[in-house]
Amino acid sequence: MNNTLYIVVPCYNEEAVLTETTKRLTEKLTRMVNQGLISSESRICYVDDGSRDKTWELIEKLNKENSFVYGIKCSRNRGHQNALLAGLMTVKDLCDCAISMDADLQDDIEVLDEFMQKYNEGCHIVYGVRSSRKTDTFFKKFTAQSFYKLMAGLGVDIVYNHADYRLMSKRALEELEGYKEVNLFLRGIVPLIGFKTDVVTYERHERFAGESKYPLKKMLAFAFDGITSFSVKPIRMIFTTGIFIFLISILLLIYCIIGYFQGNTTQGWASIMVSIWAIGGLLLLSVGIVGEYIGKLYMETKARPRFIVDTLLRENGAKEDGIADKH
Ligand code: UDP
Ligand code: MG
Repeated sequence: MNNTLYIVVPCYNEEAVLTETTKRLTEKLTRMVNQGLISSESRICYVDDGSRDKTWELIEKLNKENSFVYGIKCSRNRGHQNALLAGLMTVKDLCDCAISMDADLQDDIEVLDEFMQKYNEGCHIVYGVRSSRKTDTFFKKFTAQSFYKLMAGLGVDIVYNHADYRLMSKRALEELEGYKEVNLFLRGIVPLIGFKTDVVTYERHERFAGESKYPLKKMLAFAFDGITSFSVKPIRMIFTTGIFIFLISILLLIYCIIGYFQGNTTQGWASIMVSIWAIGGLLLLSVGIVGEYIGKLYMETKARPRFIVDTLLRENGAKEDGIADKH
């Protein structure tokens, strides 16, 4: 059976939680192996994202004691998304599917079975979606939900209330490799891959121990990265504002001409007003046009795959996976 599961867990200064996380995950995986849901070759793979504390020493220790535990050490701290990608790309040749989750047990591990069931039903990507945000502070809830709405408004296809708790099949991981962008925002990239997908809902718990590694500053930078990596709509806004201001300048021109003939304008006022608005509008318009080309250039430099073939159907229903895939 093709059901070797790797659980990829990025860790940054997580010495406070790893022992407990390993204990609970080991129990869970053992049960799943016994039920035949996953193979006994399945593993937990910790990715140490250049931690400053004893995280790596702890991973080495856990690896010696526990045959489930594998470890990857990044050469330095590159952030959650990069650490996650490092993990996924390293395990993709060893596993049949991989599930990414946080080290802090916020993602409910009891739904791992459901992930595997969906995978067995033929899903290549399964998104873990939070059913509620009860454990979040008002601020976190508000900012997170506004972010999802903003992204949707900007035309970016992301799954509402889904963080990075997700299953990806080996096939999906291989396709993910084709996305070479440096500003990594996996939540935006994964839906671009396509294939049969499904959703598993779960309750998100509080962080088990230690502190969040996503302070407000990092959170905002992450959100900004998400928007600018996937949408050129902000550039279009400059363009539309330019058109709007230029239109105002034309209205103003008409107003000034009428005023001039009625003789109720001060000398020089009309020409100055009209030129300020017209030039302002034209400048914004030009920046918008230049921006439009930069936006195109930006998307081209990402060199994302233009299509991914799911199946090739040949005579008598013979199927092949992703034949014409290499673009
Ligand atoms: N993380 C990482 N590198 C970083 C920051 C965070 O690998 O630079 C990991 C962290 O160890 C955790 C996951 O990313 O496993 C999510 O971080 P955290 O739980 O602190 O974020 P929150 O749940 O508070 O949004
Ligand atoms: Mg967390």
